Amino acid sequence: MSTPNFAEAIVLRTQQLSPHMVRLTFQSEFAADFVTGAPGAYLKVIAPAPGEAGPPAFDPASFKTRMRTYTLRHVRPAEHEFDIDFVVHGDNGIAGPWARQAAPGNRILISRPGTLKFGTEGADWHLFVADLSSIPAAAVELEALPSDAIGDAFFEIPSDEDRQPIRTPTGIRVHWIIKSDPHAPSEALIQAVQTLDWRSGEPSVFVAGEFALAGALRTYFRKQKPTRKDLTYVSSYWKLGLIEPEHKAFKAQAA
Ligand SMILES: Cc1cc2nc3c(=O)[nH]c(=O)nc-3n(C[C@H](O)[C@H](O)[C@H](O)COP(=O)(O)OP(=O)(O)OC[C@H]3O[C@@H](n4cnc5c(N)ncnc54)[C@H](O)[C@@H]3O)c2cc1C
Repeated sequence: MSTPNFAEAIVLRTQQLSPHMVRLTFQSEFAADFVTGAPGAYLKVIAPAPGEAGPPAFDPASFKTRMRTYTLRHVRPAEHEFDIDFVVHGDNGIAGPWARQAAPGNRILISRPGTLKFGTEGADWHLFVADLSSIPAAAVELEALPSDAIGDAFFEIPSDEDRQPIRTPTGIRVHWIIKSDPHAPSEALIQAVQTLDWRSGEPSVFVAGEFALAGALRTYFRKQKPTRKDLTYVSSYWKLGLIEPEHKAFKAQAA
């Protein structure tokens, strides 16, 4: 079933990238228009209930409460294919728990993509800070940097086995920070960023992840390390204890 704004996407392949992340490869008519090498593209997915094969019924009255946001990790428009890397974060929710059990042939609904308001052009060096939910977005940006780019990338992951290969330029130092409890604050990550040897020149800054992490670093940069607005992206991707529509409403209220 398709509506003008949503199309079906069928799972072609599943790959367990790490204990807490599963990559699903989908095929969909919308993917013919996806742009390769476009960093930061994300879309809305409406998944069926966890364990169900789908496709979910499109209900105009309730779809907004069921929609979730995901990054296009890779796109292959010629094949109408794309990959999404889903965090496996437990039994709560819709998209994460569904993805954990998804199998080839299962179907979801997807929107057309939007893009992040972030650019790296003109920066002298680059700083990336991501938790598991935003590693896909950071990875797409990092993999699009010129080969002589320099900087630091901090990735917070729940276990050492959750490291994943990311094709960063050799001048980007990658720091993996382990935080096994998703409910604990990101103290080690925040401290690592705050004690980073700040390079000279203008940085591009990408920070995304749990609400408190994004908030703490947004305040830090504003007060201690003002950065150029067009080179800075700080965004909360999820919030402990809230489902996505609640998180969105909370962010809108806080803004
Ligand atoms: C622009 C953008 C791009 C994103 N890209 C990705 C992506 O590529 N991959 C990805 O996995 N996520 C991504 N996210 C985050 C994702 O949209 C949220 O994590 C979403 O809440 C997951 O939906 P759900 O149905 O699994 O859980 P929900 O129903 O929204 O929440 C259920 C419960 O799970 C908790 N929860 C939600 N997410 C997490 C998490 N990551 N870790 C621990 N607990 C969690 C909530 O706090 C809540 O208690 C992105 C978000 C944005 C804004």
